[in-house]
Amino acid sequence: MSSFSQITLNKSALEHNVRFIRSEIGPEAEFVSVVKGNAYGHGIHSFVPLLSEIGVRSFAVFNSDEANEIIATGVPFDRLMIMGAVLDEDLHWIIEKGIECFVFTQNRLLRGIEVAKKLGKSFRVHVEIETGMNRTGYDETKWLEVCDILHAHRDHLIVEGICTHLAGAEEISNYVRIQQQLEKFEAAKKLFEEKHIRPKSAHIACSAGVINYPETIGNLARVGILQYGFWPSKEAKMGWLAKNKTTQDPLVRVIEWSSYVMSIKEVGANEYVGYGLSFLTETPMRIATVPVGYSNGYSRALSNRGKVLVRGKRVDVIGIVNMNLLMMDVTNIPEIEEGDEVVLIGNQGDQEISVASFSDFSSLLNYQLLTRLPERISRTIK
Ligand SMILES: *Cc1c(COP(=O)(O)O)cnc(C)c1O
Repeated sequence: MSSFSQITLNKSALEHNVRFIRSEIGPEAEFVSVVKGNAYGHGIHSFVPLLSEIGVRSFAVFNSDEANEIIATGVPFDRLMIMGAVLDEDLHWIIEKGIECFVFTQNRLLRGIEVAKKLGKSFRVHVEIETGMNRTGYDETKWLEVCDILHAHRDHLIVEGICTHLAGAEEISNYVRIQQQLEKFEAAKKLFEEKHIRPKSAHIACSAGVINYPETIGNLARVGILQYGFWPSKEAKMGWLAKNKTTQDPLVRVIEWSSYVMSIKEVGANEYVGYGLSFLTETPMRIATVPVGYSNGYSRALSNRGKVLVRGKRVDVIGIVNMNLLMMDVTNIPEIEEGDEVVLIGNQGDQEISVASFSDFSSLLNYQLLTRLPERISRTIK
């Protein structure tokens, strides 16, 4: 574990966000916590036990490795859902442990059924419907065939759900496309109904669905980014605040990330700082280094544009972010000392760096910046 930087997870913030999600989805809907991408960079090993302590028992991941990591935490669960990739060799323990899988190809479905038969168990599936994202999901031409398979092997299957994923619910500009997806999904549900296939749940909503299209919530919502205290987009946030006639953000950031001042130096005017020619001093400057770079999860895209906090002040990241360090302009902080705390995400005094302002271009980048935080940074809970 490296202590050159530390990640802290705030349990009461998480509790607050989960309460918010539950109030948005209503008492009839199940909250499935999406913890793919190492829990959006927060760290499955620390984050999932925290969720468990506050009573969350349904989790969704992308692949079978991540499902295995959840199992390794030892938390109890009612539902563990794999939304994407499964290796054939993993089907055995997946079915043995009652883990659920999205199915969107006949190969996956038939192999799962085969393994379930051998084990004398049932394969718990969520049938993913192609409604317009054109990524994964059964095309309309396959729906009848899928119904036939589900019917023929009903003794070894539990149809936990029928589902789809929205292609950009965080932007209002995608409104028409989303409406077409919802219509298509209704058509699939109707056909399944006619064929006497009755999935236990029908689910569409991700965070942006919950906020922008509450009609997509149904009896289950797969929510990721909101629980970490971030909005899927600025638009979603503004829309929610306007609808609820408030200016108070109902979400609280769970993660904090900090490091320290490694060294300080004075640089004269007309000097380049760091690699290349991207930063030239106009006047004499004081520069400090922090031992965190792009290999430690601080994106190179923040070269000459990131902000960090030191001594309660917001300062600029200058020059190119290096593999293992970044440089900051501390000209206006004469009292700075080696070892001072540097906040990369979080609060110091009355200043805050949220992930969004740390990138400042688009909230969609939140997803990318968070998931880059390496597993080997130590996580502590407060
Ligand atoms: C990632 C993902 C979600 C959750 O998305 P958020 O925007 O983080 O809420 C839901 N469903 C599927 C299929 C996903 O891949």
